[in-house]
Amino acid sequence: ITTVCKVHKVCVLPGDGIGPEIMEVATKALTMAGAKEGEDFEYKYCLIGGAAIDATGKPLPDETLATAKESDAVLLAAIGGYKWDTLPSAQRPERGLLAIRAGLNAFANLRPAIVPRQLADSSPLKRELVEGVDILIVRELVGGIYFGQPRGFGVNEKGERIGFNTDVYSEPEVERIARVAFEAARKRSKRLCSVEKSNVLEVSQLWKEVVIRVGKDYPDVELSHMYIDNAAMQLLRNPKYFDVIVTGNIFGDILSDEASMLAGSLGLLPSASISGSGPGIYEPVHGSAPDIAGKDVANPLAMVLSAAMMCRYDLSIPKVADRLEAAVNAVLDAGLRTGDIYKEGPDTRLVKCSEMGSELMKHL
Ligand code: ATP
Ligand code: MG
Repeated sequence: ITTVCKVHKVCVLPGDGIGPEIMEVATKALTMAGAKEGEDFEYKYCLIGGAAIDATGKPLPDETLATAKESDAVLLAAIGGYKWDTLPSAQRPERGLLAIRAGLNAFANLRPAIVPRQLADSSPLKRELVEGVDILIVRELVGGIYFGQPRGFGVNEKGERIGFNTDVYSEPEVERIARVAFEAARKRSKRLCSVEKSNVLEVSQLWKEVVIRVGKDYPDVELSHMYIDNAAMQLLRNPKYFDVIVTGNIFGDILSDEASMLAGSLGLLPSASISGSGPGIYEPVHGSAPDIAGKDVANPLAMVLSAAMMCRYDLSIPKVADRLEAAVNAVLDAGLRTGDIYKEGPDTRLVKCSEMGSELMKHL
């Protein structure tokens, strides 16, 4: 009898600023959680961002993209910092991020808005409203009004200056993002809300039609539709209504920032940029935090939750994801807080990044 043991190949990009510190915690936690479930990881460390500019002159070396393409998934910490802020924008570290997204055809941006009950008091909304919120926003990332042609400046018939953009989606573009969203909903509470403005916009009418058609392939997922203005309101009025939200580029940009505020802190929010086939890029929503880099005070939990998302959506090892999420819950239950989420109290204790990491390992 032969047993085939699949090793999950992960391209690891620690990047800049607090990146290396939080990545160390995340990879250790991932290895441990995997070991408990009989899953092995092979980490291929590559350069991106400022670190890559310093070593090779390019924010995304060819070797990094090649390794990413050969991997099952990409785990990315953070990019950029003061050191490179004076470079012309075309040579900045952030270009590395845009380039790897384009190189992997990552057209779908997945952003969970999670409010752990232990932190429900940091939300600007009332505890009863946000406690237990767990929303996944699926935003189309490479189409819509941000990319549509024609665009530019001109002059109208009255001789006045105008600026204009075009909001355009093709049927295949809507179909592929809808499939990503339905698949994601299947792995969660099986409720999908499509957000558009079909009472006013033709591009939204097409969006809605295509989403309904794709939905016929997912009879197990309950589909609803909401206008963007109403969705923006409901997100604050009754956020627990939502499970998965799918929407276009500009509406998703706005809604995902609004949703991230429900949590009240960046330190716990993961994200993914995926293509639906091939490796996705999993990274925290926060940036490289150059102001606190190298001080061992960063919050590593968004990075750990990004690794969990990678396990759930790319590697299809949900039990490893569950273990990582349970460990994050356990350290929060134990009252451990890094500076960004710390509030003085009898049940909380301020810890460093490395201590948060060692406590996580104990729970794993
Ligand atoms: P970017 O442009 O890369 O998104 P940004 O300017 O939006 O970066 P961040 O790097 O996200 O900013 O940092 C914003 C603030 O939040 C900073 O004061 C930073 O120290 C803090 N911060 C961000 N991430 C963390 C973290 N993981 N732990 C603790 N503090 C953090
Ligand atoms: Mg930012």
